[in-house]
Amino acid sequence: MDWNAPLTALPKIGEKTAKLFKKLDIVCAGDLLWHLPAYYRDLRTPVPLREIREGEEVLVRGRLTTPPRWGRRQGKFSVFSFEVADGTGVLLIHIFNLPFLFSRYKTGQEYFFYGKPKVFRDRMQMDNPLAYPPGETPGILPFYPLTAGISQIMMRRTVAAALREVRPPETFSGGLCAAADISGDGESFRLVHAPQTPEEYERGRRSMVYRELLVFSRMLALMDKGEISREALRFPENIVEEYEALLPFACTGAQRRVMEEIAGDLRGKTPMNRLVEGDVGSGKTAVALFAAYAAMQAGRQTVLMAPTELLAGQHFAFAEKIFGRRAALLRGSCTKAEREEIFARIAGGEVQVLVGTHAVLYHELPFPALDLVITDEQHRFGVGQRAALLRGNPAAHTLILTATPIPRTLSLVLYGKAKISLLDELPPGRKPVATHIVGQQKRRDMYTWLRGKLKEGEQAYVVCPLVEPSEGFSALSVEEVQRDLSRFFRGFGVEMLHGRMSGEEKREIMERFRSGATQVLVSTTVIEVGVDVPNASIMIVENADRFGLAQLHQLRGRVGRGDKESFCYLVSDGSGLERLRILKSTNDGFAIAEKDLELRGGGELTGQRQHGKGSLQVSNLVRDVDVLLETREMLERMPEEFPEDYAKATQLALEKIREGDAQVVLN
Ligand code: ADP
Ligand code: MG
Repeated sequence: MDWNAPLTALPKIGEKTAKLFKKLDIVCAGDLLWHLPAYYRDLRTPVPLREIREGEEVLVRGRLTTPPRWGRRQGKFSVFSFEVADGTGVLLIHIFNLPFLFSRYKTGQEYFFYGKPKVFRDRMQMDNPLAYPPGETPGILPFYPLTAGISQIMMRRTVAAALREVRPPETFSGGLCAAADISGDGESFRLVHAPQTPEEYERGRRSMVYRELLVFSRMLALMDKGEISREALRFPENIVEEYEALLPFACTGAQRRVMEEIAGDLRGKTPMNRLVEGDVGSGKTAVALFAAYAAMQAGRQTVLMAPTELLAGQHFAFAEKIFGRRAALLRGSCTKAEREEIFARIAGGEVQVLVGTHAVLYHELPFPALDLVITDEQHRFGVGQRAALLRGNPAAHTLILTATPIPRTLSLVLYGKAKISLLDELPPGRKPVATHIVGQQKRRDMYTWLRGKLKEGEQAYVVCPLVEPSEGFSALSVEEVQRDLSRFFRGFGVEMLHGRMSGEEKREIMERFRSGATQVLVSTTVIEVGVDVPNASIMIVENADRFGLAQLHQLRGRVGRGDKESFCYLVSDGSGLERLRILKSTNDGFAIAEKDLELRGGGELTGQRQHGKGSLQVSNLVRDVDVLLETREMLERMPEEFPEDYAKATQLALEKIREGDAQVVLN
């Protein structure tokens, strides 16, 4: 079957089911192969019944010691039960609403059962486990991301059909695969979707990662600016002091050091390519605007790009204090007239610093001498956009800001000869944010406490995982929490904020919060990236276990910015406590990121797919940095040994660059 064949060409898939699959971006048969498992369960070795624990999914093996018996039936509802034993213990099994299975189970027969045991009236029981006769266990069972209307069983069956029917095109030659010790495309898909052992899965994944990173490495090589020489910028010797005098605060030692490093680069005869890494709140914006200031003193212009409109607005507010009318903000939502007005000011030489989101990339900017591009990346690694923006001036200086600690090897590969500056000191007077983990049963107490704080004039963020209540997700949503808290905090302003609102709406809501007109902001993680409201001193995260540690740390960084004592409450139903305790124990973002990596890198079988064309789909740059290095070595050999594969990698890399989407998200 052709890779692009419609889903309906597969057995048992009609128009209706195809529509459901479309919600998962699965349109053609080949898309099914790219729908990778979210996780796996190892169903090869059963656990003795004596050792199973409540709430932990396990595979057990047991013989029926009683015949199945019907429980009370009501209308369509049915249940039957039986007991199984394995010599170490007994387990009671209930089968709900699957009456046709009743006649399948007979006393003395042996089965494997996979499910989540629970204790009820002092007995261990399992409801509706997956059951397999001996010899028919699936080995390693994949679990896929789903949507309403598609079950795991249906997904597995459909993917299996695609595996049988579709012959994926092979990207590289057999010779290259052998040299790299990877499997071809078709075999990799089989290993990832239907592994017999964890090693098979690992090999399948590594092969896919290798192919992806080989193209990625080629892309980096194509974008490398190499050693271009350029004219040095000239500005006063004491420029750092001059700049600091314009700021409302005294700089930290680290800020001064990094500014000197930047000044040194700008005075150099090769383009600056510097990465500034600093924890949340370390004051990266002031450092970035220093670079813009120095460029301006040398008669050159700067573009500063932020990841969100909200942040761009905030950076602009800071920039305006220093640069006045010489700074401008280009919003995605600008009308044509507004945009043209800004462009006229740029062309006329008034605007020296343009702040915006990555949307600025889509415009030809009429700068007389654009010479510095600053990117505030937060969690992202952007590599493509620099190339895009610098079409006009490939020798321009670049500065990248990030709050994510990037392992050194990786940052060197990604940013070429990037020099790295660490902002390893927080501005004085910051109190560490007191962090507490709160059980669900204590939520009311916490909100009662918060009411007292609001009366004292404090402000709080409440972050929820969802925008609206969603079936199948037992997590709180912004909408329901906002409704709930408006009632609970009568007399105070409780507003919500989420990514589905328009830029204008978001800005107005943020402004009301900033000015103190509202006291509580219930939000999704849109506030994660760098929102700065010094008076807000309390952060509550609902269903905290749903978030990554680095993300929680970013969220917590929204408070503790003023001089007040600050608090962060992580509400959890008891899952993920080990991870959450790390946050409680330290305020050091870099330590947290390392711990997080350690905990997650623990050999657990996980696959993940990031949506969006062009971005890496299977690779995790941090985890797969070794593979990345291998592919770089391979690239060196390829022109000689595998010229056809080299041409293919180049072609694929060029396609990616042309798509303009060389964005890579670090998670
Ligand atoms: P981040 O590194 O997270 O981007 P910001 O640049 O947003 O941090 O700075 C966080 C806050 O700290 C801002 O309100 C900023 O004005 C303030 N700030 C930055 N540097 C200093 C300093 N040296 N002293 C006092 N406040 C500072
Ligand atoms: Mg910032």
